Amino acid sequence: MMNYSIGLDIGGTKVAAGIVDEEGNIFSEIKLPSKTNDKESMFEQVLEALKQTLEDFKGKKEEIIGIGIGLPGKVDRENGIAVFQNNLPWANFPLKERLLEHYPEMKIHIDNDVAVAAYGEHFLNKVNKETLFTYITLSTGVASASVLNNELIKGNGFSGELGLIPVVSELENNKLRPLEKCTSGLAIEAYGRKYFEDQSLTTKDIFDKYYEEDEKAKEIIASVSKSLAYGFVSIISLLDPEKIVVGGSVAVHHPVLIELIKKELEELLIEAQKDAIDRISVSENSDAPLIGAASRLFF
Ligand code: ADP
Repeated sequence: MMNYSIGLDIGGTKVAAGIVDEEGNIFSEIKLPSKTNDKESMFEQVLEALKQTLEDFKGKKEEIIGIGIGLPGKVDRENGIAVFQNNLPWANFPLKERLLEHYPEMKIHIDNDVAVAAYGEHFLNKVNKETLFTYITLSTGVASASVLNNELIKGNGFSGELGLIPVVSELENNKLRPLEKCTSGLAIEAYGRKYFEDQSLTTKDIFDKYYEEDEKAKEIIASVSKSLAYGFVSIISLLDPEKIVVGGSVAVHHPVLIELIKKELEELLIEAQKDAIDRISVSENSDAPLIGAASRLFF
């Protein structure tokens, strides 16, 4: 018998749901836009996503053991509560309890979105249990999550906040800035808008200009990759992960950024650390969060 579980990736833009087997295959995946007007419409949309993916599923429904959920911000894993999400209309929303009213037979696990993406990459890359694995996301924000023995390194609950580490930013007169403030998708967009004096530019536009060899865009991306490299030095020096996967839209669409970071690392790391550079790779599966959320039910 094959076990299945439902993965749910809930974000401020979309809700994705899919049924995942123990090998990480996804079935009947569906994506719906988030309805962020109020908490009940948002919850209705989550129910709708679950309903549609279950209706589409051709396998045996009794082999579905539970629902694994990833959502941004702060979550209370033990009690299944969405504590605080910047871009969702939920505050202390009892997500697990509300879902159990509709799916009383299901096991339900909720976790943070960076954590589920880390679990997903860990699962998809078939990383050994004993391997210290770090996932870094370069997206709207910047964060990391590390996994050892199939479990997240949680600390007191706030570990992995790579985006809060102060780093030097060339674009800001070499001042120290929290890494996220000078390297995230939002930061790249803000730098671009300021330098090109055009409020309509997106992160993607800045990269397009970079590929066209625009000098200003090159300066922005050089500064961003240098600041990011300092963050990577911190992670490598503290944890020396045996494998690092970088995900998030900014990294996935622009692997060149990772190449630039690696070049900087050649300068910044000491000789004995340099082998870490070859252990860094870019995510190859955009469904990692969904798979990671679902995979927690298999442990
Ligand atoms: P989230 O932050 O919700 O997890 P993403 O990983 O998709 O979502 O990251 C969103 C960020 O990625 C935004 O800052 C957006 O501008 C940026 N982004 C999305 N697509 C691209 C692209 N093709 N090129 C550069 N940046 C992108």
